[in-house]
Amino acid sequence: MNSDCIFCKIANKEIPSNFIYEDENVVAFNDLNPQAPVHFLVIPKNHYSSLNEIKDSKVFGDIFSTIPKITEKMGIKEYRTVVNTGASAGQTVFHIHVHVMAGREFTWPAG
Ligand code: AMP
Ligand code: ZN
Repeated sequence: MNSDCIFCKIANKEIPSNFIYEDENVVAFNDLNPQAPVHFLVIPKNHYSSLNEIKDSKVFGDIFSTIPKITEKMGIKEYRTVVNTGASAGQTVFHIHVHVMAGREFTWPAG
């Protein structure tokens, strides 16, 4: 828990949020500023500021294995996943999160 971290506060329910998924290790919630008709974030409950801090494959396994559980319930089979690492890559919240976006066409390469 990092007391300055907004996503730690969300994961710890200090900031009210409607979780679309929660288990022992992970929570998922809708992005405040959605970039697609479906846009949610999956985060570990433990604080890691970015992918650079993750040395344990279990953490990422917990996050990524959650995604198809959520999308299957939503009836979504096609989606974009994004992990921004570092400010120049677009990271603005320094608690690792995976963006999951769906419901429109996505271009490649990402901007
Ligand atoms: P990134 O730019 O990859 O670090 O993504 C951070 C994301 O968190 C952005 O898409 C923001 O819209 C989103 N965000 C920031 N604060 C909140 C919040 N309180 N609840 C939900 N999403 C948030
Ligand atoms: Zn945090």
